Amino acid sequence: MSQDLFQAPDYYQLDDLLTDEHKLVRDAAREWVKREVSPIIEDYAQKAEFPTQIIKGLAEIGAFGPYIPEEYGGAGLDQISYGLIMQEIERGDSGVRSTASVQSSLVMYPIWKYGNEAQCQKYLPKLASGEFMGCFGLTEPDHGSNPSGMVTNFKDKGDHYLLNGAKMWISNAPFADIAVVWAKDESGRIHGLVVERGMEGFTTPTTHNKWSLRASATGELIFDNVKVPKENLLPKKSGLGAPLGCLDSARFGIAWGAIGAAMDCYDTALRYSKERMQFGKPIGAFQLQQKKLAEMITEITKAQLLAWRLGVLRNEGKATSAQISMAKRNNVDMALKITREARQMLGGMGITGEYSIMRHMMNLESVITYEGTHDIHLLITGLDVTGLNAFK
Ligand SMILES: Cc1cc2nc3c(=O)[nH]c(=O)nc-3n(C[C@H](O)[C@H](O)[C@H](O)COP(=O)(O)OP(=O)(O)OC[C@H]3O[C@@H](n4cnc5c(N)ncnc54)[C@H](O)[C@@H]3O)c2cc1C
Repeated sequence: MSQDLFQAPDYYQLDDLLTDEHKLVRDAAREWVKREVSPIIEDYAQKAEFPTQIIKGLAEIGAFGPYIPEEYGGAGLDQISYGLIMQEIERGDSGVRSTASVQSSLVMYPIWKYGNEAQCQKYLPKLASGEFMGCFGLTEPDHGSNPSGMVTNFKDKGDHYLLNGAKMWISNAPFADIAVVWAKDESGRIHGLVVERGMEGFTTPTTHNKWSLRASATGELIFDNVKVPKENLLPKKSGLGAPLGCLDSARFGIAWGAIGAAMDCYDTALRYSKERMQFGKPIGAFQLQQKKLAEMITEITKAQLLAWRLGVLRNEGKATSAQISMAKRNNVDMALKITREARQMLGGMGITGEYSIMRHMMNLESVITYEGTHDIHLLITGLDVTGLNAFK
């Protein structure tokens, strides 16, 4: 990839709404991404490999458990800082942001919120430092948008649980040390269990041939009569609401992260439009190209405002799941549209790995699907405003 010249757009002076701490956290993440992610990420995406050497740096910028209390090794930050970190990481690559989101919101969050003190002490500090990496198993081969239909299950065998089933499309699975797995007990109620690598009958085959999120490792989780110690069940919450609570936190991070990818594409297209000459003029002087840029910065600014307001509501404990759905859906869709427009603005160069745009575009095809598809989030808003369930 060519040199990272990124300059963040802030058309409505939103920096004025941030505290000094927010800006410090954001700027540290921005500098780290420029230094450690941008120079290598194209190569890793081409190779379809996650760059494990950046795990330590991700931990150092607070990307693993930004809002987890410091007593458990987290950064103890607020929700807006969490969002800003996700924005900066996804400015570099959605796959890297996915790894951080999973670790924070889908592994540390359920252990912190639904686990007991011993589980928090055992796992959270190691997850915060990156010594342990985690994954989250909800989706199954036959149950994606409808996780309540899951068939993965466990039976009480007296001194342990016996876990059987399979999960699919699991980010971080190939290298995760632990998995937070959602499974039904004998009465059909959903619980979270911490499954550790090395437990007999537990395997994590890698998913190959992805054209999207290539720098993020994806795999399956297979449970073949896995004996899970009873102390590994997360005791404080059960039912579908437990995994959905984790998804709220992760979707919030995605709503911010997608802005990062959009800002990167806008910034690249803007710079290119001033340098690329055709018909004796920079292409940025043509009305058609200005329309694209003007619409991009308008949509980015609207998305920034949505994310910031949602952050305030989350800090106050007032954000609803439906509000989070709206922001995730809007901001990812916005980012994907911007990648497509920006790609066209670069002409043939837009399809190469010299620029980040095509990689962002391919990545966002996963982001618009995972953590609730674009359609599912629309149905959530529809249900919220009408009170009528159109899911089934
Ligand atoms: C790269 C990647 C990483 C992922 N990481 C994880 C992870 O770490 N952990 C995890 O648990 N999962 C993960 N997922 C899974 C992801 O959350 C699912 O792919 C997603 O929830 C959609 O499920 P599905 O793929 O089975 O699609 P389906 O549910 O089969 O949906 C197919 C289509 O039907 C539509 N549809 C479904 N139901 C309805 C309805 N009622 N009304 C209208 N339309 C409907 C959907 O919107 C979609 O367009 C990941 C996925 C990808 C691609």
